[in-house]
Amino acid sequence: MTDTTITTCYAHPGRETTLRCKRCERYICTSCAVGTPTGYMCRDCVRERRKTFDTAVWYDYLIGFGITFILSLVASILVGIAASFIGFYIFFLAAGIGGAAGVFISNITLRAINKRRSRPLFYACAAGVVLGALPVALGTFFFGGGFAGFAVVIYVVIVTPIVYTRVSGIQL
Ligand SMILES: [Zn+2]
Ligand SMILES: [Zn+2]
Repeated sequence: MTDTTITTCYAHPGRETTLRCKRCERYICTSCAVGTPTGYMCRDCVRERRKTFDTAVWYDYLIGFGITFILSLVASILVGIAASFIGFYIFFLAAGIGGAAGVFISNITLRAINKRRSRPLFYACAAGVVLGALPVALGTFFFGGGFAGFAVVIYVVIVTPIVYTRVSGIQL
């Protein structure tokens, strides 16, 4: 590029610029440039990059929410039933069931959504876990006493972050 060459924005041919997209190297004006932690990018490249991070398709939200909801419902019912038999030790068992269910639920969910990903999808899975346990928590509070209900709450506190981190692929 010589000094006499005038470069202009690829989207706005009237605007002179020396700024280039760090990904596709096209010239971009200041209103087209999007700042990223590693430099400026054009809008097309930002859109492209977002696509590779968000691979979830619409039915993944239904599958992710549905599976986590149903499995969490079953796991929390187990906690609720166990609470009426073993008394105080249920708090340890509830934590144990939460841990095991977290691994189990996230493995099945990851397979079902074929490891596609997007942040709203991770939230949908976490919401499924919480909402699946909610009717059981409420039911045990009203019919089984606060003791069993508290055990279900312990289960939720343990299982939800496990499912969220495993489905989203965060390495602990
Ligand atoms: Zn670009
Ligand atoms: Zn422009």
